Amino acid sequence: MDRRTLLKYSLSGIGVGLLGASLQSIVNAEEPGSSQWGYIGGEGPEYWSELSPDFQVCVSGEYQSPIDLNASIPAELGEIEISYQDSPLKLINNGHTIQVNYEPGSYLKLDGQDYELLQFHFHKPSEHLVEGSPYDMEVHLVHRNQETGNLAVLGVFMKRGGSDNPTLSPIWDKMPKSAGPERSVRGVSVDASELLPEDKGGFYRYYGSLTTPPCSEIVNWIVFKQPIEVSAAQIVKFINAAGINARPAMPINRRFVLSAGG
Ligand SMILES: [Zn+2]
Repeated sequence: MDRRTLLKYSLSGIGVGLLGASLQSIVNAEEPGSSQWGYIGGEGPEYWSELSPDFQVCVSGEYQSPIDLNASIPAELGEIEISYQDSPLKLINNGHTIQVNYEPGSYLKLDGQDYELLQFHFHKPSEHLVEGSPYDMEVHLVHRNQETGNLAVLGVFMKRGGSDNPTLSPIWDKMPKSAGPERSVRGVSVDASELLPEDKGGFYRYYGSLTTPPCSEIVNWIVFKQPIEVSAAQIVKFINAAGINARPAMPINRRFVLSAGG
């Protein structure tokens, strides 16, 4: 199937799955020869759809992310089953964010389906809003279902607190200051479960998209209500390495946001 056919599929919203966003674009930075995009000026979010025919759904899609998580509907959503293992630290500054690529073998179970943790990365400020307001930062833990290619992304808000977040410290210590290839850090491992809030029963759930080009509408979003903490110094270091990198909130259109827990 050529790229044009893929595009047609993504635009019609049928069978998007892996077709809409190649695994490489999710795990790594850019595909060779792919279009440049960014967060400011002529490469910014309002122009993404003009930068490449592959990015059309960024403007034509009706299930785009992020959104303002207001007017949510209380629902019994059950527990999110998470089983994560430690992973050796492999990180990349891909020019859009700081991303930690995760070793295979960590899973999230959602609606009876397994989604494997591929990577997590950060946004400053948060991309999702709560009642119109952003948090200081947001981490996205990206999981993929092997059969369908659909994603489940856990979003965790990060709120400025007093001291350095110790889970972030080993990542922040090795944070590449500019864009470049993935780096493996010998002798350091990370545990993604330490990035999740204590209260895992309170979360929002809705269906949406990647928040970066190609904006594929293949994402089961779960955003926890309780934030974790990040220090002011950690926020500054992130901005210096990756810059401001949040897509503005998109229209909710005909979607519902479900809300579990207090
Ligand atoms: Zn993200």
